[in-house]
Amino acid sequence: MSTPTSLPSLTITAIREGLRKKDFSAKELAEAALAFAQAENPKTNAYLTFSPERALATAAKVDSEIAKGFPIGTLAGVPLGVKDVIVTKGVRTTCGSRILEHYIPPYDATAVTRLEDEGAVVIGKMNCDEFAMGSSNENSAYGPVRNPRALDRVPGGSSGGSAAAVAQGTAVVTLGSDTGGSIRQPASFCGVVGVTPTYGRVSRYGLVAFASSLDHIGPFARNVEDCATVLQAMAGRDDQDSTSAFAPIDDYHALMKHPVKGLRLGLPSEYFEGLTSETGSVIEEAVKKLESLGCEIRKISLPHTKYALSCYYIIATAEASSNLARYDGVRYTIRSEGATLSDMYRNTRGAGFGAEVKRRIMLGTYVLSAGYYDAYYKKAQQVRTLIARDFSDAFKDIDGILAPVSPFPAFKIGEKVDDPLTMYLSDIYTLTGDLAGVPCMSVPCGQSKDGLPIGLQIFAKHFDEATMFRVAYNYEQATSR
Ligand code: GLN
Repeated sequence: MSTPTSLPSLTITAIREGLRKKDFSAKELAEAALAFAQAENPKTNAYLTFSPERALATAAKVDSEIAKGFPIGTLAGVPLGVKDVIVTKGVRTTCGSRILEHYIPPYDATAVTRLEDEGAVVIGKMNCDEFAMGSSNENSAYGPVRNPRALDRVPGGSSGGSAAAVAQGTAVVTLGSDTGGSIRQPASFCGVVGVTPTYGRVSRYGLVAFASSLDHIGPFARNVEDCATVLQAMAGRDDQDSTSAFAPIDDYHALMKHPVKGLRLGLPSEYFEGLTSETGSVIEEAVKKLESLGCEIRKISLPHTKYALSCYYIIATAEASSNLARYDGVRYTIRSEGATLSDMYRNTRGAGFGAEVKRRIMLGTYVLSAGYYDAYYKKAQQVRTLIARDFSDAFKDIDGILAPVSPFPAFKIGEKVDDPLTMYLSDIYTLTGDLAGVPCMSVPCGQSKDGLPIGLQIFAKHFDEATMFRVAYNYEQATSR
């Protein structure tokens, strides 16, 4: 068995090879991965719960299939971490919230089932901002996550634990969720690859709802190929989620290896105004690299980008206020007693939710209330259509879009926590992808002078993840040494 010191750099391909050559068994790998993750976790707080029993049961299954000479799954033996907003049967799922501190789900999310069917080994649940609301992972009721690349900095959010574990090497791949940027922004901050698929590409069944029309499940990995493998395994229609799509799924591996020569990539001017010179010049270099590989770079405009932040914070909070109504002290876990039923609701929610969640529920309730609905919620839905139309118009003449992920690299823990509006600006370049529902991802493209990772964002047409992976893969191959 390869020594645990090689764990931090393991990839899906390497695990496959190792199992085939019998360098290690799935059980040995699972045990080593768990021991390593448990020992390293105090540095970052990326995991909230470990699931050794479940991990060893799946690993044993993989080993017995290998012993019988059966073909093994595409993710056989791969240590997987799952963001704690995605339910896992029998394994505690907190959503980073006190209100679900002891919640043990009675079922599995479809995405998790599909990955396990391919042999993935769930080793634990990843820390995140409470109910996925945040950009720094400082809103978790279980303490912040530290960025493994600079321990005094945030890993980004809300999928901070998922990104940090892949960067730290305590998981080979992880699942995150993205409603406004929560996969791409932490991927960029931690220097790993993170993918937000097309809305509807991956079933949301078992993803605890934040804003249902914006929520996506997607993978984190150390390279583009591993992200593609995970997405391939979990994509596709699921009758348990009526918004999951019937759209055919391309063979990502085959298509992403095609050269990018001749692809037309747009640079939206709105994403480059006001960018710090440091991030801007790293992105410019990445664009030049793709140009040198034969891509045709075109200047484009996505004119409604300036409304994205306000539009997102109306729609997301409106949907959240409705989705979070179910945590009432009757269902799920904690309850704070009260003299009357409404006192009990109030006390439970008052004690169970953190400040950011309460802020969102209040905002959402306000924008949905009679008298304000037309002015805010309805208007925001109309603006969302305009933002989506910007993308479909642009995609008439181009194959993909390149942009920064975040205006700045990872910031210091505590730096923005008292200023929600500045915090919300972290997602200024990622919100549009969710509002339009197009696939988008972050791929590492360099670092700041302080050595902090910077990600390049790639958008593609609805259901054209293959082209997005192709751009990312070719870029990665051309830049990795
Ligand atoms: N940071 C954004 C928010 O706080 C996005 C969160 C997400 O994508 N889950 O809402």
